[in-house]
Amino acid sequence: MVTITIPENVGVFLLDIEGTTTPITFVKDILFPYIKEHLEDYLSAHWEEDECKQDVHLLKKQAEEDLKENRACPVHAVDQTVHTDEEKAIREVVDNVLWQMAADRKTTALKRLQGHMWRAAYTTGRIKGEVYQDVVPAIRRWRQQGLKVYIYSSGSIEAQKLLFGYSVEGDLLDLFDGHFDTTIGAKVESKSYEKIAERIGCSPQEIMFLTDVTREAKAAEDAGLNVGVVVRPGNMELTEEERSHYSIVMTFSQLELCGRP
Ligand SMILES: [Mg+2]
Repeated sequence: MVTITIPENVGVFLLDIEGTTTPITFVKDILFPYIKEHLEDYLSAHWEEDECKQDVHLLKKQAEEDLKENRACPVHAVDQTVHTDEEKAIREVVDNVLWQMAADRKTTALKRLQGHMWRAAYTTGRIKGEVYQDVVPAIRRWRQQGLKVYIYSSGSIEAQKLLFGYSVEGDLLDLFDGHFDTTIGAKVESKSYEKIAERIGCSPQEIMFLTDVTREAKAAEDAGLNVGVVVRPGNMELTEEERSHYSIVMTFSQLELCGRP
């Protein structure tokens, strides 16, 4: 395995999650199927709780909007506030959520409910965040050598904290100095990386960004960051040109800090 030497001026690692620290299939094969399989049970168990009521209310509002815009979505005909047929009402919510997921919609209402379901799944140990074996030892080594480590992922900061807080290797949140999500900007925009450097309080040149997506690598590079493109099983194939342009990282253990104890 080729050693990749990190420039001496680098003091910060910025890490992507999916395809970098974690299998790219985690969200698709674990998180989303979990929702589909447990939706009805979750709603039945939490139906009377305020948080769940709010989630259902938001979904209902969304369905009303979709209907106005002539999207053929399943509607919530049952008014939850009047205690009519609970089972029927739950089935309607299930139909609506499954429809939204099949259509790959990113509505706040959908995300809110999914977030609450995943939180319950993580905290009760039914889901554990996956992390590649080489990740934790490498981060510990970097930290011992005085580097800082941040996460930048399109998953929300709350979702990031659940993944690492309830991971296959236990609570890993101590490994990170902070988290960024797309509220700071899109991952394919250079400006986002400038803002992150500013927020961390360093220059872009002091950051090493690791990601599996070359469009993100390009944006970070344009902002002045050092980048490494991570190749993991199941990640998108790189072109010849990308392979020769970027430092290719197969495992974090390849990354060595030069001139440091
Ligand atoms: Mg990624």
